[in-house]
Amino acid sequence: MQFKFYIGTKVLFGKGCVAENKAEFGKYGKRALVVTGRHSGKASGALDDVIAVMDGLGIEYRIYDRVENNPSLDNVKEGGDVARDFKADFIVGIGGGSPLDAAKAVAVLAVNDMDPLELYNNSFKNKPLPLLAIPTTAGTGSEVTPYSILTRKDKQTKMSFSSEDIFPKVAFLDARYTESMSYSVTVNTAVDALSHAVEGFLSRRSKAVSDILAVESIRLFGECSRSLLENSIDFETREKLLYMSTLAGMVISHTGTTVVHGMGYPLTYFKDIPHGKANGLLMEEYLKFNYGYVKEKIDKVLGLLGLRDIEEFGGVMDKLVGKGLAISEEEIDLYSSIAVQQKSTSYNIRNVTKDDMVRIYRDISLKAAN
Ligand code: NAP
Ligand code: ZN
Repeated sequence: MQFKFYIGTKVLFGKGCVAENKAEFGKYGKRALVVTGRHSGKASGALDDVIAVMDGLGIEYRIYDRVENNPSLDNVKEGGDVARDFKADFIVGIGGGSPLDAAKAVAVLAVNDMDPLELYNNSFKNKPLPLLAIPTTAGTGSEVTPYSILTRKDKQTKMSFSSEDIFPKVAFLDARYTESMSYSVTVNTAVDALSHAVEGFLSRRSKAVSDILAVESIRLFGECSRSLLENSIDFETREKLLYMSTLAGMVISHTGTTVVHGMGYPLTYFKDIPHGKANGLLMEEYLKFNYGYVKEKIDKVLGLLGLRDIEEFGGVMDKLVGKGLAISEEEIDLYSSIAVQQKSTSYNIRNVTKDDMVRIYRDISLKAAN
């Protein structure tokens, strides 16, 4: 048996964890740049809590709240310039996956005067600034991953860079910060977390230890699915979703994602489909595609979710994220040529060709037409 297991992040979970662990903020210096989205920091209440802690500790701060959804290289370059101008000692990322991923890139660019394209070399002359991460969605798990996924206009898709040095130092997980999410953001982000756990579980790179986390994460999604379907999401469910998404983040820290994410990125890039929804649209066909290769594991996933078969799984996804998506033949050809180049697709348990991708996209489009 051989494996490597490393999470470079201290995880602090629970209501009030920012105020209760304020000493963590004092460990990394006296000047902080807060990186967040236009609304999520304020709407969630996390920004106010962080400001109260930093005021109390005499930490000077500046707020960069211009992170876009699916941040671009230009966006993180601007954030990096602000951090350098301000001479920040550390970064506090607040928000969904977009601000947290942007914060990781900003932490690198703040101390490395380089073109953001060089982020993709995955090694940096100077160590990135320490990052404290506060998720306001329960989905990406970015607070515990060594990945930052940015929009690459030059490649017409999204691509991740990765380094152990961009693991957040601390993740503060307070489910109260996720209560202000709209229903659709709640559902899309939960489905994203499920796709991390499932893709990680079925990946060529899965290991016994990542499977333990994946199984628990999938089981927890199963416990929450009725509340998600009925839009009756209480605080206990919010905590479960946050917990399951962080477990799923730990899974992909070790396995990476696979074909669902690779094929989902073009749907986001070209059609502006939210990340988790794009994954949800693809998952039924992905399970069917892989079934003959990992039958036992897929049956286990369905069992953990309390579902009979892949069709029933598809029915749940249809209700959560919508039934299929119209994609033209030209679009299908373009998206497949782009997706097949994603390294993550090579981690899929079954080899995936461009033609396989064409068939999967076509099935999704057909579903929308029926
Ligand atoms: P997001 O793009 O961060 O946020 C989606 C929307 O929800 C935004 O409009 C955001 O507002 C809003 N929002 C977030 N939290 C809210 C709250 N508590 N209350 C009200 N509104 C809130 O969505 P996400 O799904 O969490 O992140 C997706 C990104 O993460 C993608 O770029 C994806 O590729 C990436 N990702 C990263 C990893 C990783 O390991 N690093 C894994 C999977 C996905 P604002 O605009 O104001 O923020
Ligand atoms: Zn994802």
